[in-house]
Amino acid sequence: MSSSSLDVIITKMNNYIGFMWFMVMALTVAVGFAVFLFDYISLANGKKKINNNNRTQNQETDHQESTINSSEIHEQEDATTLFQNDSNNPEIIIVGAGVAGSALACSLGKDGRRVLVIERDLSEPDRIVGELLQPGGYLKLIELGLEDCVEGIDAQRVYGYGLFKDGKRTRVSYPLENYRSDVSGVSFHNGRFIQRMRIKAAKTPNVRLEQGTVTSLIEENGTVKGVNYKTKEGKAITEYAPLTIVCDGCCSNLRRSLCNPKVDIPSSFVALILKNCQLPYPNYGHVILADPSPILMYPISSFETRCLVDIPGGQKVPSISNGEMANYLKTVVVPQIPAELHTAFISAIDEGNIKVATNRSMPATPCNTPGAILLGDAFNMRHPLTGGGMTVALSDIVVLRKLLQPLDDLNDAVALNEYLEVFYSLRKPVASTINTLAGALYKVFSASDDQARTELRQACFDYLSLGGVCSNGPVALLSGLNPKPLTLVMHFFAVAIYGVGRLLLPFPSLKRAYLGARLIADATGIIFPIVKAEGIKQMVFPVSIDSIL
Ligand SMILES: Cc1cc2nc3c(=O)[nH]c(=O)nc-3n(C[C@H](O)[C@H](O)[C@H](O)COP(=O)(O)OP(=O)(O)OC[C@H]3O[C@@H](n4cnc5c(N)ncnc54)[C@H](O)[C@@H]3O)c2cc1C
Repeated sequence: MSSSSLDVIITKMNNYIGFMWFMVMALTVAVGFAVFLFDYISLANGKKKINNNNRTQNQETDHQESTINSSEIHEQEDATTLFQNDSNNPEIIIVGAGVAGSALACSLGKDGRRVLVIERDLSEPDRIVGELLQPGGYLKLIELGLEDCVEGIDAQRVYGYGLFKDGKRTRVSYPLENYRSDVSGVSFHNGRFIQRMRIKAAKTPNVRLEQGTVTSLIEENGTVKGVNYKTKEGKAITEYAPLTIVCDGCCSNLRRSLCNPKVDIPSSFVALILKNCQLPYPNYGHVILADPSPILMYPISSFETRCLVDIPGGQKVPSISNGEMANYLKTVVVPQIPAELHTAFISAIDEGNIKVATNRSMPATPCNTPGAILLGDAFNMRHPLTGGGMTVALSDIVVLRKLLQPLDDLNDAVALNEYLEVFYSLRKPVASTINTLAGALYKVFSASDDQARTELRQACFDYLSLGGVCSNGPVALLSGLNPKPLTLVMHFFAVAIYGVGRLLLPFPSLKRAYLGARLIADATGIIFPIVKAEGIKQMVFPVSIDSIL
């Protein structure tokens, strides 16, 4: 080939790369601008609405029963004795008094419904789940008049996240400027929070809270009519009600008779409690983008910090009993956490109180059986990285409660079922945003051998570090403050395009352009299946409760 034709080819290639580079930059600016505009408008609308809702709700809660003395939780010797409010002929049976069941019982009881709640174990749970309630979830708690349930339990305020990667750190705060001063994330011991809500439920007129294990649903001609359960003493009891709401949690035994669950196990969390240590960003959640996958830390009381170390699904969880776990934590995890936490972390390992929880995710499958509905983790689960489970459950309760309020008679099961079908569309904006972000962030924040994924991970960290709309937007989505699935998809692609821009600047090359293309393909491969599982139609055309009622 002559040197002149080689020159022509090189000039053409340079022009082509230059053109590509220009297009990517133009696209980045356009998407960034669109995201900014969309966010600005939707955040402004959302804030106006939430503030209005809060005002109405505050007026309501002023007239509610006085708050419960926190010492009741600790003084209580046998929890069952507290829970004996009378309510015969229930209209609604709730299975499970965890986060969803107890919040639901309080809300429906306040609306005058006769509610029977059956809970397997009424003693204070000691669990490592549901310890950080996002601000969006706290707003729902206010809307349900339950915000006093986080008082008197040494709960801690959380204002955002500290992010750590390869020795660099940055802080992203929740955009709370336009909310009431008490609105923030809240973290606590899950058992204390649940116990507060159980006590509140039991004190609500019309609510009867019983200890017992529901063994089956009673189904007649395709309609659920009630439940069979066994009391603590082993006595078999049958209860009937027009509506049964199943909230028996992540390991639900009953969901299989109502839907076709597809449970995935993306990873496990190894849990420790660090004592008397100061986090690098006090009153912030901490996410360390570690290898192989993220590590989380957040305060759960004035002197305790929860640490959750993720172990990806494909990796064997080291054994606690033979010391493999302690060794893994000391040799693989300690070098990756901020130096100021090493001493407290090693003390926590040596203390030996290490627990392991399985992380599950499960898209929501509508329940088409008249007379019953699923709620909480029994209905829908996502990776707990973003701490969104309680926010989704509380948001679902707000929707369901509003739907049930105008219905005087729940006895026509088929009509009720048709009416409740809109619940599945109404819950979508909040649930899909939180679920999609949890699944996508878990993948992006995990280490990978694939260079395109590594670039995407770095781009995500750098994008969030930019501040302004680049951090406010994603953190508002994650925290449930701005439940807009489409904004989420836009931010996700803005991160990908930002990553491509970083690759092509200042001097693009063919190799880097190819890597950029793979990065975009990888980002699409992450987000698209999650969006598909959530339901593309409901995400693109969300329905609001105001347009129905
Ligand atoms: C490791 C981990 C960490 C998490 N961290 C967070 C977080 O920080 N923030 C967040 O928002 N979410 C978090 N989540 C998710 C959150 O914990 C759940 O979304 C939330 O607890 C769901 O509430 P629920 O009421 O559906 O289930 P649960 O709170 O589990 O309650 C279910 C209840 O049903 C009872 N029950 C079960 N079977 C029966 C039966 N047959 N009869 C009677 N009663 C029964 C159980 O005893 C239990 O009390 C986390 C999850 C995991 C796995």
